[in-house]
Amino acid sequence: MKIAVYPGSFDPVTNGHLDIIERSSRIFDKVIVSILKNSSKAPMFSVEERLTLLRKVTRNLSNVEVDSFSGLLVNYLKQKEAEVIIKGLRAVSDFEYEFQMALMNNKLNPKIETLFMMTSSKYSYLSSSIVRELASLGGCLKELVPEEIIPDIHNKVRHARGGA
Ligand code: ADP
Repeated sequence: MKIAVYPGSFDPVTNGHLDIIERSSRIFDKVIVSILKNSSKAPMFSVEERLTLLRKVTRNLSNVEVDSFSGLLVNYLKQKEAEVIIKGLRAVSDFEYEFQMALMNNKLNPKIETLFMMTSSKYSYLSSSIVRELASLGGCLKELVPEEIIPDIHNKVRHARGGA
């Protein structure tokens, strides 16, 4: 069974992420979308909230599992019996860091391959940070994130402002 792990912050999940998840779920027997817990960034959504949003938008994909992890990604892969890391590439700016990470992970465990999937052109400008910024300014999130989680994002912004 070919198992792949798609790691990231997913704060929140966007249509760009979902596109990579759907495409990789057609290639692998199982795809584990996993939230990195030890990120230094101050998140908008807690890990629990991000898990809930990811589960909501992937519930129709039967071979996709949602999880979270901390520590070394290669150790997590071993624990999950996975040998492939999936990464999305948007622009040249993503490349240098991802290249370094892929080589380091392969050095830590030579059995591990990192597979880069090119973004679909319509999502090449899309990131979670741009979604957070747009949401906090009251912008329209249609076509940027799955329709069903738009209310969750707007609610989060309202609560963060201390509103009802
Ligand atoms: P972001 O950079 O949006 O905050 P994450 O850290 O959660 O996202 O990213 C997880 C993975 O998803 C990374 O491999 C990243 O390159 C990829 N990714 C994020 N947005 C897109 C997109 N619009 N198209 C393709 N891949 C993406």
